[in-house]
Amino acid sequence: MRYLSTRGQAAPRDFEGVLLAGLAEDGGLFLPESWPELSPAEWRALRGLPYHELAARLLRPFVGDSLTAGELGAMTRDAYAGFGHPAVVPLAQLDTRIFALELFHGPTLAFKDLALQLVGRLFDHALARRGERITVVGATSGDTGSAAIEACRDRAAIDVVILHPEGRTSEVQRRQMTTVPAANIANLAIQGDFDDCQDLVKAMFADAPFRAEMNLAAVNSINWARIAAQIPYYAAAALALGAPDRPVAVSVPTGNFGNVLAAWAARRMGLPIERFIVGSNRNDILARFLAANDMSARPVDPSLSPSMDIAVSSNFERLLFELLGRDAAATADIMTRFRAEGRMPVPDAAWRRATALFDGFALDDQGTLEEIGQLYRECGYLADPHTAVGTAAARARLPADPSLPVVVAATAHPAKFPDAVERATGVRPPLPPRMADLYGREERFSVLPRDLAAVEGFVRRHARRNAG
Ligand SMILES: *Cc1c(COP(=O)(O)O)cnc(C)c1O
Repeated sequence: MRYLSTRGQAAPRDFEGVLLAGLAEDGGLFLPESWPELSPAEWRALRGLPYHELAARLLRPFVGDSLTAGELGAMTRDAYAGFGHPAVVPLAQLDTRIFALELFHGPTLAFKDLALQLVGRLFDHALARRGERITVVGATSGDTGSAAIEACRDRAAIDVVILHPEGRTSEVQRRQMTTVPAANIANLAIQGDFDDCQDLVKAMFADAPFRAEMNLAAVNSINWARIAAQIPYYAAAALALGAPDRPVAVSVPTGNFGNVLAAWAARRMGLPIERFIVGSNRNDILARFLAANDMSARPVDPSLSPSMDIAVSSNFERLLFELLGRDAAATADIMTRFRAEGRMPVPDAAWRRATALFDGFALDDQGTLEEIGQLYRECGYLADPHTAVGTAAARARLPADPSLPVVVAATAHPAKFPDAVERATGVRPPLPPRMADLYGREERFSVLPRDLAAVEGFVRRHARRNAG
């Protein structure tokens, strides 16, 4: 399988190449040259498989020759063995037609574990084969840092330094990062806010000699391998509800458009997903685009669902490329103008193609709290604020066809956002038993001022300690 850039100016690469590159050199995002398709009989034959086997079968065509079938199978088995539910991604029924696809049973209680647990292993394997090492540096306000740490802990070829703003993450989030007892993981509490952390990370990447010396890498959400690893859970849910003989709809609370793009990719592979409902909080660029072809960036406004607080949806470029009939020159032109003008000039015909499949819905914090309360009163279900955006979107945009079930991506465990859940329901959701000792575990982190030289010195010492 070869991969092309959405902007058409980068050389095609194989799976390992796109895994390690992340972004293409022309600024575009990688997509497979052609979509692998399964026949209805082939989909039927996947029903009832353990999740790790389903994942290995569906990822096989994307991985190509980069891994043997045996290596990939061992990797998916290992990646999902640490999840806290035997089904890995169980379905919970919330209403006659609405089902929550629980993507939060991984080590950090959010859906990013499904992709990152596999991607960490893929990275390590590729680096070992090439005899290379990388240093992952990242800034986090909470969720992404812990998922990256859990994905990379104890990996031989990877060192990780995560910067968080001192005293500004929730205690659960901080402890999920700082209590991981692995020699290749380091946490830095920066005396500043999240933007200061992000600026320091950007400055490290912009420091070319330092970047080369440390072989700096990011595990960000534009990496194709992350999207690919999110396809199998939509297949698991649809197959359980009767696909390929019964179509389904999905409702996905999203910011960067990554998780809903994976659902769309499952459709391209032949899974009958008939409708895509996109849930946003008050940072509603996607809802505005789908309602009125208004894809214009606005400043980020913090909400109760912080992992969807974004100004622009970076993965949308992949859908745009497809909506334009894979015209890379047109995609590059539109993205350049978006960058310059802050508004994406999507041609009317492409927008209509999008709205034929996708529907948007935006919910503010008050609506989110009401939805959490309603779910608890009606079915005793505790939903986190991100998931609640998805269930509210499913209700508000319920497809007309009464036989169509709606699968809502439940992206975080309620215990990850206990304050909002308690406010809405009066119930403080407990951590799952396997994490109940989180508050008793020893924390390790260093505190530094927002000073580039000091931070680079720290990264250098940390990466070197683990070299060789
Ligand atoms: C990251 C995240 C999202 C948004 O994911 P996208 O990649 O933007 O689709 C939603 N919910 C939770 C809990 C997250 O951590």
